[in-house]
Amino acid sequence: MVITRKVLRNVSLTAHPLGCRRHVEDQIAWVRNPKEPNYSPITAKMPARVLVIGGSTGYGLSSRIVAAFGGGADTINVSFEREPGERKTATPGWYNTKVFEEHARKNGLKAFSVFGDAFSGEVKEKTANLIEEQFGQVDLIVYSVASPVRTDPATGATYRSVLKPIGKPFTALSVNLGDPTVTKETIESATKEQTEETIKVMGGEDWRLWIDLLGKRQLLSAEAATVAFSYIGPEVTYPVYREGTIGKAKKDLERTAKVLSGTLKAYVSVNKALMTRASAVIPVVPLYMALLYEVMSERGVHEQCTEQIWRLFTTRLYAGIPVPTDEEGRIRLDDWEMDPEIQKEVQKRWKLQREGKPLKGGNLTLVQREYDNIHGFGYDGIDYEADIDPREI
Ligand code: NAD
Repeated sequence: MVITRKVLRNVSLTAHPLGCRRHVEDQIAWVRNPKEPNYSPITAKMPARVLVIGGSTGYGLSSRIVAAFGGGADTINVSFEREPGERKTATPGWYNTKVFEEHARKNGLKAFSVFGDAFSGEVKEKTANLIEEQFGQVDLIVYSVASPVRTDPATGATYRSVLKPIGKPFTALSVNLGDPTVTKETIESATKEQTEETIKVMGGEDWRLWIDLLGKRQLLSAEAATVAFSYIGPEVTYPVYREGTIGKAKKDLERTAKVLSGTLKAYVSVNKALMTRASAVIPVVPLYMALLYEVMSERGVHEQCTEQIWRLFTTRLYAGIPVPTDEEGRIRLDDWEMDPEIQKEVQKRWKLQREGKPLKGGNLTLVQREYDNIHGFGYDGIDYEADIDPREI
């Protein structure tokens, strides 16, 4: 079939296998030959056996790539994927995983995946068995799940996460991918139940269940560490992010790191805003990203997931003890994004935007390209008109 790009409300419905191959291979190539200014040398022992929960796209995939091709680690990924059919493309994560594992094995690294619901008891047990059989123990657990829904295995209750402000509606300027017209979006405030459900899905409970199980089964090595990802961002996105439902969930995640510190080294890393499948659907975010990407590119400090995770491993997690954190104990990889000079410039450009007018400045093209790339589209040299089998990668 000819695989075309289909995007509905900033959600891509298709993925291109050859482009996903390129997406993964480009990241592997960067890790093999990292470039300034995002490069910093490996100075400490890297983890040898790594579990990435949510390791098929975005920050999780980059964690797997940096661990394997930077540190020589054997890896296990747990992710939720749709398999391809004769006339149906797979999720990008399915293609990414196949390509990653092909390269890892070619390089003599062990690489396994458990495809299924990370929130379920069954997938946790299956993964624990795999660790026991293949690795003995793990040295690092990266928790990088971004999901709209979670079924609690203890009760069978299903919870849904929402991206909403709390207390009052929020109105702000926004843009949609593929359309540079600035729009005004109003998001209704969340109910108390919606806030609680978002914490159930995106808070720290499931991360804790994973670590508890691995601890109970003695699958954590003596030097084991774990990291999960958070976001803070600028004040302009506070109502819908940091002070909204997702922010409450992230605070819960940050509290969970403190609880887990009793068992192993546990961190929350606050990362940069980046175009991933999860972030594209947050209102206001594509407009902020278009301006941020422009300013950071002009200053030569724009990063993608892999560059961020390279810095996480080499300048934070594996750069010697103590791990550099802020006063709340969080790793700050958003340091370049939140640089006051960068934020001042973004704010200045934000103020130039008018509803109904085309975006003034900003690099929406780069935001769009990154979004296309994570679904395997927009690469030079790939024939997007070609008839291909979506089951082949
Ligand atoms: P993403 O959508 O690219 O990746 C999410 C991963 O979770 C995928 O591998 C997906 O398969 C997996 N997943 C989803 N539901 C699952 C389930 N039920 N079972 C198993 N796997 C499941 O998202 P991302 O942006 O890389 O987000 C990862 C983390 O990073 C999130 O906690 C997010 O909040 C955080 N973060 C993202 C940004 C950003 O701007 N993108 C910034 C800071 C922090």
